[in-house]
Amino acid sequence: MSENVEQTVIIGSGPAGWTAAIYAARANLKPLVLAGDGLNRDRFPGGQLMYTSEIENYPGFVHGISGQKLMGIFQSQAERFGTRVETAVAAKIDLSQRPFVIHAADELNSREFMVKAHSIIISTGASANYLGLESEKRYENLGVSACAVCDGALPRFRDQPVVVVGGGDTAVEEAMYLTKFASRVYLVHRRDALRASKIMAARAFESPHIELVWNTIVEEVLGNESDGVTGVRVKNVKTAATAEIACRGMFAGIGHTPNTAFLRGQVPMDEKGYITLADPCRSTTDVPGVFAAGDCADPVYRQAITAAGMGCKAAIDAERWLAAEGIH
Ligand SMILES: Cc1cc2nc3c(=O)[nH]c(=O)nc-3n(C[C@H](O)[C@H](O)[C@H](O)COP(=O)(O)OP(=O)(O)OC[C@H]3O[C@@H](n4cnc5c(N)ncnc54)[C@H](O)[C@@H]3O)c2cc1C
Repeated sequence: MSENVEQTVIIGSGPAGWTAAIYAARANLKPLVLAGDGLNRDRFPGGQLMYTSEIENYPGFVHGISGQKLMGIFQSQAERFGTRVETAVAAKIDLSQRPFVIHAADELNSREFMVKAHSIIISTGASANYLGLESEKRYENLGVSACAVCDGALPRFRDQPVVVVGGGDTAVEEAMYLTKFASRVYLVHRRDALRASKIMAARAFESPHIELVWNTIVEEVLGNESDGVTGVRVKNVKTAATAEIACRGMFAGIGHTPNTAFLRGQVPMDEKGYITLADPCRSTTDVPGVFAAGDCADPVYRQAITAAGMGCKAAIDAERWLAAEGIH
């Protein structure tokens, strides 16, 4: 009996994964998507946009669209052309042999299975890091965000004070971007010096719209259901003094964690865990037959549209690679 080997398995079901699936399915590769098992936020089928209520910058939607709706449309389009979907994660993967072996798991339903694949597209995203406060969750989409480029232009933040938490390049970038819209940007950092690169730090110091709040942590996001965020309660870590900063938004600027831990040692990645592409113009990795797309391989842009574009590239690269290998 011949063994069942998938032509292409797509790991992840955000904009990158679904777009790869649309292209791969239309190229007759009959892709299988491991969509995530929903055990936690990083593994939610549909990806990070499932937690975003309003997307105003995805082309084609003049009046914006909710993340859940957008991902539902992506999935339906992928399925229309024959994409198969498993609600499971890639728990372990062996790229040292061909066909590749993926150990998949759906922890919520205590289910495990193994998949063999001639090619793999990795599109597992990079999760935004949050502070981990209970109140932060309560006001998600009501003023708490981790993406200034995505949310900064929303009416809620226009001409209003906002807080950015962090002291690295991400935080300073977020703060600088928000100065276009907010009346004032408080950059709250737990140390007395920024970790950001010199050039970024200089921009923050020079900006008349940014106020640095040193040696300070956010203890609680304040607000109510109708207004959303109205302020944050902060604590000075040196004096233990607490205070409130009135603001309409709090942006966590403390970086991202690529969801690539299960690939460590198998695919080259940078020190943060972003997959490094063999050729930055394409989706190929150093492992022939393994392609990467979306935020897991993109420390720079991390947008739905760029992730979708990378998904398209990965499917085309996989299709051409399979053809060159004579795999049908
Ligand atoms: C608060 C916030 C608001 C945002 N708003 C916008 C916006 O308005 N516009 C915009 O363009 N972008 C926005 N973004 C950015 C956008 O969400 C990301 O750029 C985009 O989702 C990246 O797509 P992706 O497919 O690479 O990864 P993701 O969307 O993160 O999807 C990753 C997928 O991989 C799955 N996965 C993870 N690990 C595994 C595994 N081991 N096995 C199988 N599956 C796995 C997950 O379940 C998920 O399905 C926002 C981000 C945040 C945090």
